[in-house]
Amino acid sequence: MDWTLVTLQLRGKTRRFVRASLLREDPQPLLARRHGECRRCGACCKIAFRCVFLKTDQEGNSRCRIYGLRFTQCRLFPLRAEDQVGLERQCGYSFAADPARAEIPALPEPALD
Ligand code: SF4
Repeated sequence: MDWTLVTLQLRGKTRRFVRASLLREDPQPLLARRHGECRRCGACCKIAFRCVFLKTDQEGNSRCRIYGLRFTQCRLFPLRAEDQVGLERQCGYSFAADPARAEIPALPEPALD
């Protein structure tokens, strides 16, 4: 098991829960940057452990047994690109680039004479 990956995924799960459920932050600005749709792959329901409410049908589609009552951290997955670490190829969502996180242009290489 890749513990670094699990740690990053759990951090995202905890962050979504704390910010939305405890701090009651408005997720709309982050959700506005999210594009795509859920493919029902169920990958987010297996972060760190397989959710007991996850059910997979014969066609391989995932379904939440408590979908209407699902937890906030599930409802808001993914809230940012970091939430998808390890799931990038499976998840049907993507995010618009955040201009505040744009890469700093590389400095020119020094001339070596
Ligand atoms: S990982 Fe993404 S596409 Fe897959 S079930 Fe979760 S939200 Fe849907």
